[in-house]
Amino acid sequence: MSNRFYIGNHLSSSGGYLAMGKKAVELGGNTFAFFTRNPRGGKAKEIAQADVDKYLEFAKEHEFGTIVAHAPYTMNLCAAKEDIRQFGMEMLADDLKRMEYTPGSFYNFHPGSHVGQGEEKGISLIAEALNQVLFPEMTTIVLLETMAGKGSEMGRSFEELRAIIDRVELSDKLGVCFDTCHVWDGGYDIVNNLDGVLEEFDKVIGLDRLKAVHFNDSMNELGSHKDRHEKIGQGKIGLEAMKRVATHPLLAGKPFILETPNEDEGYAQEIALFKSWFA
Ligand code: FE
Ligand code: FE
Ligand code: ZN
Repeated sequence: MSNRFYIGNHLSSSGGYLAMGKKAVELGGNTFAFFTRNPRGGKAKEIAQADVDKYLEFAKEHEFGTIVAHAPYTMNLCAAKEDIRQFGMEMLADDLKRMEYTPGSFYNFHPGSHVGQGEEKGISLIAEALNQVLFPEMTTIVLLETMAGKGSEMGRSFEELRAIIDRVELSDKLGVCFDTCHVWDGGYDIVNNLDGVLEEFDKVIGLDRLKAVHFNDSMNELGSHKDRHEKIGQGKIGLEAMKRVATHPLLAGKPFILETPNEDEGYAQEIALFKSWFA
């Protein structure tokens, strides 16, 4: 196997883009993820053009894959309270403006929690919000993350994601981030039937929408709807199944992002493990 692969983890954005690029390389990776602002929300840090320029040069030199920014967890585009929903839309609009500093990147977000309003209402509120905020000139692809389905979380099934995408006018700006822990917890058996799950994804959403992978093992059983990430190979998905995901031909060339419970050393080890599967 010599197909191109991209692997990285979530990095702190506090030192800027070049610092993240260097950190990614230090850990052995060639892509990364970062929160666009404090995961709990709030004001984002200024972006320095000089830092971005140096980063872009560095990324080219090191043949980085597409980076995958992550929206704050507090962003809920289908909140019941209008002020929370507005706050989310403002963050999204601001983030998408800022994402244009690194053209053609991915921006991943949790579709939201309908908090008792029902799935149908959730779908229409999320789509409505995206219709207000996405703009034709943007080069970023916005990724809806597959979710574990904890509580009233939206995006627990491929059908829900498809329903949202279908109602968005600028749907060419949309893709999906395939989170292995979430998909497993959501009831898709990637251990015994990975091909079937990808086939299902293709049938319902279309594999051309699958832009990135959140690469996590799970602490819980298939269909548990719990969303507790585990280190690669130490969870219920297990090493062999994780390896099959990483090396699946249909996922070749996508950025794989680790969101496992680790410190730097653990990430470096998981990145090395991932790379060993391609050696
Ligand atoms: Fe996420
Ligand atoms: Fe994730
Ligand atoms: Zn998760």
